[in-house]
Amino acid sequence: MSTAQARAVFDSAGPFQPTEIQRRELQPHDILIEIKYAGICHSDIHSARGEWGPVQYPFVPGHEIAGIVAAVGSAVTKHAVGDRVGVGCMVDSCGECVHCHEGEEQYCLEGMTGTYGSVDRYGQYTQGGYSSHIVVTEDFVVRIPDALSLEAAAPLLCAGITTYSPLRHWDVKAGQKVAVVGLGGLGHMAVKFAHAMGAEVTVLSQTLKKKEDGLKLGADHYYATSDVETFKSLAGSFDLIINTVSAQIDINAYLSLLAVDGTLVNVGAPAEPLPVQVFSLIGKRRSFAGSSIGGIRETQEMLDFCAEHNITPEIEVISADRIDEAWERVMKSDVKYRFVIDIATL
Ligand code: NAP
Ligand code: ZN
Repeated sequence: MSTAQARAVFDSAGPFQPTEIQRRELQPHDILIEIKYAGICHSDIHSARGEWGPVQYPFVPGHEIAGIVAAVGSAVTKHAVGDRVGVGCMVDSCGECVHCHEGEEQYCLEGMTGTYGSVDRYGQYTQGGYSSHIVVTEDFVVRIPDALSLEAAAPLLCAGITTYSPLRHWDVKAGQKVAVVGLGGLGHMAVKFAHAMGAEVTVLSQTLKKKEDGLKLGADHYYATSDVETFKSLAGSFDLIINTVSAQIDINAYLSLLAVDGTLVNVGAPAEPLPVQVFSLIGKRRSFAGSSIGGIRETQEMLDFCAEHNITPEIEVISADRIDEAWERVMKSDVKYRFVIDIATL
């Protein structure tokens, strides 16, 4: 075992406090990573506050991890000491089911092992990236291309892959009309990716406050969802809508914006249900879908795509003693557009 410094919440109300956690002894295929930066995802907040179900405390969130390989187990071949690497939302899976074989470990039939809040194959409760070190089996560690700084790479490990994967799965290309609901961490990456894939991109945000930013990020159009005219003027117009909203919204209103055969993909994960009226779907053969992060192979592909197309998230790097304040700002939709913790300040 080795000891890592971390920031944890000790109950569902917080606040964060410094603590020490134990990382397992290096197994033959394990990699010890010295974490440099960790992004703050809204899922960290849902999880730590018990909104998705009970968790164990102390609870160390963080699944947007970028760092340097500090040591490797005796059988490791994929990475070497000194490599720049990343870890996202999962750290293990069964490796044997059809989905693991297809490289979609997030849909592992036995359930993937989450970077935090899971019990791993050694029986240990996993603790996330708001910490100085982590031990991860090599198959779940990706390479960060030289063109990407570590702080900019961190948010790609969740916000990046979670938006890239559905855009690829639904085969977005030039000429298609894509709408992104919610301009936060995931939303702003969805805008950049959809734009890079050639789509005509529309942002649907609560207000027009971030309109100038949205257009700079690559959106062609920007509408406020607080304005009822938005739903009238855009009715039936999109091929694909990516909903990144972390709270309950009137999903039928958004389904009405889809064209015939259009799909609304929900990546936002509020605890509350999103009730669908079947007539929102039937009349125009629309689909309502979900998507969970992305596999390891696709995560590497996404990082390479970012390096090649010069795509990086808009980030605000903070010190560890500002995590509580950052979480409050995320809750108020006051984030431009991802907070990243400088782990050197732990
Ligand atoms: P975020 O940065 O807080 O962004 C969410 C955005 O949703 C906000 O910026 C805001 O955008 C909009 N919003 C918030 N509250 C709203 C409300 N009451 N009504 C309407 N719009 C609202 O969060 P994130 O980190 O991008 O995560 C977004 C969601 O995706 C979370 O639920 C998270 O758990 C989930 N998630 C899912 C996956 C997956 O695998 N499916 C992976 C990662 C995260 P505007 O200000 O523009 O309106
Ligand atoms: Zn996340």
